[in-house]
Amino acid sequence: MCPDIICLGELLVEIMRTEIDTPHGSIGANYRGPFPSGAPAIFIDSAARMTIPFKFSTGYIGVIGDDEFGYCIVDKLKKDGVDTSQIRIMNGKTTGIAFNQYNSDGSRKFIFAAGAAGETSPEDINEDYFNNIKSLHIMGSGLSISENSREACYKALKIAKEKNPKVIISFDPNLRPEMLDLEIILKICKPVLSSTKILLPSGEEAEMLAGIKGEEEACQNLLNMGPEIIILKQGKDGCTIFTKNNFNGIKVPGFKVKEIDPTGAGDSFGGAFIVGFLAGWDLEKAAKFANAVGALKVQYFGPMPDTSYEDALELLGK
Ligand code: ATP
Ligand code: MG
Repeated sequence: MCPDIICLGELLVEIMRTEIDTPHGSIGANYRGPFPSGAPAIFIDSAARMTIPFKFSTGYIGVIGDDEFGYCIVDKLKKDGVDTSQIRIMNGKTTGIAFNQYNSDGSRKFIFAAGAAGETSPEDINEDYFNNIKSLHIMGSGLSISENSREACYKALKIAKEKNPKVIISFDPNLRPEMLDLEIILKICKPVLSSTKILLPSGEEAEMLAGIKGEEEACQNLLNMGPEIIILKQGKDGCTIFTKNNFNGIKVPGFKVKEIDPTGAGDSFGGAFIVGFLAGWDLEKAAKFANAVGALKVQYFGPMPDTSYEDALELLGK
């Protein structure tokens, strides 16, 4: 199996507080889970669910522990059509676990037990797996979780470009300065950014990468740093597309829905956008589709929904 769309990095389960404003230290309060997660895994699962009519194949490279948490992630990915042959089961570490708590001000608090999540390494990147590659998606989290995971991302990038000089490299720099020193973020993102065709940042991430305030100006500046297409994700407001031909940006409004859990919206959006792009849709059509998939995600509790292509069409038709 040599997939058209490949993504790699951390695999986790999320265990979520059922009630908001309930600190992790509240003894005996309820959690709900496990929910399969890990930003790159949410991306590939979304791509797999949205690719059904186009028949692009999807595959994932990552590491789990030899436990039920790991198997439930693999089962979910398989159920949705992702090739999991390159997911390694590691002895001696548990599958990554993130305990997640929401607050009424919209903030989230994590307790993170990395386990096997950062164990993806260059040895996990099998050259032949990239023989048919059309699109490789890299995430900032995969670059930052560990040095070997970062090297694995760089190796995947190099092989993808060698195997297919026209490969579409997409990049979601899902990192924030409060998570990691800004200088380190810029340094580890640079080799990816210079090879990126489609950048999928939030406003804060665009400002951070461009080194200037103002999300639109930041996206305009980033067009000179490698990416040809920048899709600025703007939560309930949808997204804005920046290219050199549309320097001022094309706004693509979001869908009005009730937000239950925003975790994973950006990654679900990304997977859908890449499928639309590979299908040959114009940028606005792909962005509208991705907005629908992001909006469907936020109505679902847990990071990796079961939303189908038909659900997205239904919302688009409204
Ligand atoms: P995260 O990193 O938490 O996954 P993000 O910052 O990368 O999120 P967002 O802009 O929050 O990305 O969400 C991605 C997309 O999902 C938005 O561009 C939009 O299309 C959709 N979306 C997010 N929140 C909402 C909402 N409340 N209502 C409707 N659509 C939403
Ligand atoms: Mg994001």
